[in-house]
Amino acid sequence: MPDNYIVKEYFRRMIGEDGLRIIMNIPEGEITDEEIARLSDTKLTQVRKILYTLYENRIAEYRTERDDNSGWVTYLWRFDYSNVRKLMEAEAEKKLSELRKRLDREKRGVFYQCKCQRVLFEDAAAMDFRCDECGSEFEYVDNGDLISELEAEIEKIERWKEQIRSG
Ligand SMILES: [Zn+2]
Repeated sequence: MPDNYIVKEYFRRMIGEDGLRIIMNIPEGEITDEEIARLSDTKLTQVRKILYTLYENRIAEYRTERDDNSGWVTYLWRFDYSNVRKLMEAEAEKKLSELRKRLDREKRGVFYQCKCQRVLFEDAAAMDFRCDECGSEFEYVDNGDLISELEAEIEKIERWKEQIRSG
C-alpha cells in the first residue's frame, strides 16, 4: 500500500488500527486469507471481516480456486490501492458540500433556542416565543462561534483535499 500518512489515516478509519496493521503486512501479488492471518498473527475470522470491508470499498478483490480432489475452495486475494485516492476525494467532497450547506443555513438564519430545540426566528415568532413542546421561552442564539467552527472545518477539509491530490 502507498506509504503515505493520509492514506494510512484513511484506512485506519475504514478498518481500524488492527486492520491497518494487517494490510501493511501483506506482500504484493496474490495471497490467501489463511496466509494473511498467519503473516499478521491474527484470527482468520477477523482477517475475513477486514477483507470484506476492503472488498466492499473495491480495494480488495478475489478469485477462487477449487481443488478437484478435495473439493476445497481457496480464496486468492489481491489488492488495488489506486482506488483509494478517488474514494478519499469523493468523501471529502461529500463532507464539504454538507458543511457548506450547513454554513449557508447558519449565515442566513436567525436562530432561537428553548430547552428542547433550536428553531428559526420565524418559527419562534409563530409560537409567540414560547415553545409548544416544553413550555420554555425561546431565546436568541448567537451562532457566531458555530459559524467560525464550520468555516475552520471547511478549510481543514479543503487542505486535506489538496494533500490527497498532491500526495
Ligand atoms: Zn422547547
